[in-house]
Amino acid sequence: MLDVVSLRVSFAVVAVTLLALFYFVAYRSTRSAYAGWWCVALGAFLAGSAAYLLDGTSQQWWGNPLGNVCIVAGAASVWAGARAVSGLRVSWLAVAASLVVLLVASALDHPGRNDWSGGPFFLGLMTVYLALAATELHRAWRRLPAPGPRARVYRPILRSLTLMCTGVAAFYLARFVAFLAVGQDGRLFDVFLGSQVTTLVTTVMLATVSFSMTALSYADDTIDLRARATRDGLTGLLNRDELMQQLAQRWNAHRRRAVHGVVVMADLDHFKRVNDVHGHAAGDFALQMFAAACRSALGPEDLAGRVGGEEFVLYLDRADLDDARQAVEQVSSMLQHGSLPDGTVLPTVSYGLTVARRGDDPDVAIGRADRALYVAKSEGRDRVAVADGDEKAPAAPRPPTIAP
Ligand code: GH3
Ligand code: MG
Ligand code: MG
Repeated sequence: MLDVVSLRVSFAVVAVTLLALFYFVAYRSTRSAYAGWWCVALGAFLAGSAAYLLDGTSQQWWGNPLGNVCIVAGAASVWAGARAVSGLRVSWLAVAASLVVLLVASALDHPGRNDWSGGPFFLGLMTVYLALAATELHRAWRRLPAPGPRARVYRPILRSLTLMCTGVAAFYLARFVAFLAVGQDGRLFDVFLGSQVTTLVTTVMLATVSFSMTALSYADDTIDLRARATRDGLTGLLNRDELMQQLAQRWNAHRRRAVHGVVVMADLDHFKRVNDVHGHAAGDFALQMFAAACRSALGPEDLAGRVGGEEFVLYLDRADLDDARQAVEQVSSMLQHGSLPDGTVLPTVSYGLTVARRGDDPDVAIGRADRALYVAKSEGRDRVAVADGDEKAPAAPRPPTIAP
């Protein structure tokens, strides 16, 4: 059997290392409230296990109750951190009251010779705070908007934290029940749920929670960086690389379908003139209006990306060309009803549509849509032209804007 003093010393070494790493690496750079609470929790667990080292000495009478209070304060900080994930606070009056009750119960329970002074209060409060933390983390997980970049980053982190807190809460519940049933000297309690096992369980908890908390502290940065890497800064639509990657994913997911969907190449008409006459800012505004119209006309499974200055590729997840035509006509109609900041009309848009069938690579379909766009431009702009999969290219195709 491992002796409890060595275990507590190694626990303290792990806790100090984690506290230092977590404070300097995660907390100082992000200053998030939950990271702050986790620092407090680590510090409290550390202080509590240091106080328990006085067990068996003449100072046990104050060390043991103090250890209880510190460890429970640590569990309450875990709860506070879990609530901080959702921007909520805890009632510190209630926490303080529970700590006072614990201190009094421990002080009245012969702490000088009983190293389990206030045992039921200690185990009961630990169970309650850890269960509250697990519930709070589960709620935060359920509140995530699904699906989206935020959910993608937060979900696995919150799930692992919830699992960890639930596991440790269940462990403390088992300790609480066993303590009441067989007492601190019962074999069941001592061997399976006693101080040695607890120190090991708590060490694992500190390491895994610190890891997840670090990931959580950087979650917003991760979301922000991912958005910058995948979105066009002016319009918020997908950038070219991300669009091509997402199209490849769709093609792969739909590989059994006869038709992948409709690919659209869109280009704003006489856009250079907008810049020349109304200024570059008005041109930017028109691009943003086009993006907003796409966002409202397209479905959740459709994609829109900016692939050049005023050139866009849309992917419409439907097999029907007429449906697709209606969607892009809706985009144009929205622009028709809007205006530039100076009150003049927004530019019109030309579209080239093509059905992407099984066997068409995304860039082949985009090339075909681009040739249809050329037809729409040459026939007078502000219109939709359709390229059939088998259609021959126009006699003088303009050079494709998307490299194969
Ligand atoms: P067409 O109808 O044949 O497409 O004519 P166009 O004037 O739209 O096409 P052209 O390729 O001659 O001009 C595109 C213009 O788009 C030129 C460039 O200055 C402008 N542009 C590209 N990117 C941006 C941008 O981010 N903001 C603004 N304001 N203008 C941009
Ligand atoms: Mg243009
Ligand atoms: Mg162009």
